[in-house]
Formats: sequence, structure tokens, C-alpha cells
Amino acid sequence: MMKSIVDKVLAGDIRTVARLIRDIDDGVPEVRQYLKELYLHTGRAYVIGITGAPGVGKSTLVDQMISHLRAQKKTVGVLAVDPTSPFSGGAILGDRVRMQRHSTDQGVFIHSLATRGYFGGLTQSTQSAIDVLDAAGKNFILIETVGVGQDEVDVARTAHSTVIVVAPGMGDEIQAIKAGILEVGDILVINKADRPGADKTLSDLRLMIEMGSKKYEQGKWKPPILKTEALFNKGVADVLKQIENHAAYLKKLTGPIPLRRRKEKVEQELAEMVKNRLIQEGFEQLAQTGAFDEAVQSIIDGKMDPYTACDTVILPRLGLLNRKV
Ligand code: GDP
Repeated sequence: MMKSIVDKVLAGDIRTVARLIRDIDDGVPEVRQYLKELYLHTGRAYVIGITGAPGVGKSTLVDQMISHLRAQKKTVGVLAVDPTSPFSGGAILGDRVRMQRHSTDQGVFIHSLATRGYFGGLTQSTQSAIDVLDAAGKNFILIETVGVGQDEVDVARTAHSTVIVVAPGMGDEIQAIKAGILEVGDILVINKADRPGADKTLSDLRLMIEMGSKKYEQGKWKPPILKTEALFNKGVADVLKQIENHAAYLKKLTGPIPLRRRKEKVEQELAEMVKNRLIQEGFEQLAQTGAFDEAVQSIIDGKMDPYTACDTVILPRLGLLNRKV
């Protein structure tokens, strides 16, 4: 008998994994059925997010991390998520050249997600792709994102440990802080520490951490700040060591439940999924009944305001609000 898609993923078949992730990226509806089955086989992988502005050295760092993990006989999946360029198909993170040396290694899987967002949003498609790699048995999954906006902050949250990468000078650290991304950082890395200004960046970041010290109360994880020179493989082992420490911290907090199914994660994920499905289903229904166009016309004709239209025309049609407001 021919092996099913799900069996192939569980057996770690790389071509099936790649196809499924591509389908997730393209929003192919049939993928959902596989994801349902695969979910029960997830929860073993450790997910690491690596984020920062373009050019700080994320790809170089990821490449070195892969080598370190492979030396420990761990298998690795890498997802490069680039939501910023739907047309270029991931130009910012398109420079996969630096990871090419791992491309013939069976224990490493590297894939870019352009995430045109069909599949219920960027975070959702990233999580789905993570689940496929997790079910396929990858020990570590590295998610590389360009940390510039809210989307990326959300993607960073899908990881168990998030590494924020900045470089001295360039004002990257300021940009990172502006985007609020520092708040999701579990480990802060100043890469290109061979360049001038690394110590200034270090003291700036330390100050930011101290200022936010209310968040980092007693017993809570306080993000360590590390200096690396990814290009020269310096400090990379320390980054992995801190990730290990952070993993131990999280596991102590969650107890026997897999991190994949910790309460806040499940709540957030289910809420997100319900939201996406409601929007999708709702708009389909509205299109079928013509309620939306009807409401639009009433507003154009000056017969109705959008508030009333929403509450008395649209929502009742969806069976969501059966009363006049
Ligand atoms: P990304 O856009 O954040 O993924 O950055 P890349 O990994 O593509 O690196 C951008 C440039 O910085 C490349 O030319 C790297 O060779 C260089 N680079 C990476 N790490 C270091 C480092 O530690 N020191 C120096 N001087 N250059 C680095």
C-alpha cells in the first residue's frame, strides 16, 4: 500500500515535508486535513526564533548554529520567514547562500516562507510549518525573521526561545526597540562585536533591560546579553548555551506538559484560529447573501450609518447578533 502523506512526514521524508510547507505557504486548503493529523505528533522539537534588522548577521549566525547543533548530532529545520516582500518572494532573507554548505546534509532542512498570508495569517502559517518539521522529527527548528514590525514580533512569539540580534552602530538597536521587539527577546545578541561600538551597544541594551526590570521580577527570566562574531564563529556556543538555560527555565515552569501545549500558547493559538475562520466563513456567507453589498449601498444612499449597518444588517445575517441595537 502506498504510504499516506502523513506517514511520509512522520518518517521524515524531506520531499513530502517540503511540499507540505510550500502548500501551507500557498494556502492550499487540503493541507488543513494533514495538519490535523500531524498535530498529535508535535511537541518534541525545540523552536528558536532569530530576529533582527537586515544585515545584522542573522543568516551567518543561523549557519553557525546549525554547525554546532549538527556536531551534537541534532537534526535541524530552518524556516526563513519574510513577510515584507510578497512580490520578491523573500528578497530580504533571500540570501540563503550562507547556509548552502548545509544543503547536502540530510539532517538539515532549510526552507523560505514568503507567507503571502493566505493560510490565516503569517503567524499561523509559520506555526503550521513548524508543526510539520516537528512531526517530521527535527530536534531543533530555527525561525529566522526580519524584526521590523508587529508581524515579526508575533512570529517571534511562536518560538520557545527568541534571540534578538543587533549590530553595533547602524542604530539597529534603536530600531529593534522601537518595533517593540526587544520585549519578546529571551536572549539578546550583539553580533559583529569585532566592530567598534559593541560595548556602547551593550551598555545601551543593559540599560533598557534594567529599565524594564519590573517585567523581570525575582525568579523570572532576565534576558542575557551576549557578544558574538558570527562570521568568525565566536560566541555562538554561548548563544546555544543560553538557549539551553532558557529551555530549562521554561520546562521548569510548564512541568510535564510539552511546551507546544502550554496553556497560554493553546489559548492564543485557538483564539487566532477561531478569529481567522470566523472572518473567512463570515465574509463567504455575506458574499452569498448579498448582505454586505446591501449594507454598503444603504450607507452610500445616506439611509444608514456603518455602525447600524454592522449591527442590524450584517451580524444578524450571520446569526451572530439577533437584536436591534
Ligand atoms: P542578515 O541580513 O541579518 O541575515 O545578515 P547576514 O548574515 O547576511 O550578514 C550580513 C553581512 O554581515 C555579511 O556580509 C556577513 O558576512 C557579515 N557579518 C556577519 N557576521 C559578522 C561578524 O560577526 N562580523 C563582521 N564584521 N561581519 C559579519
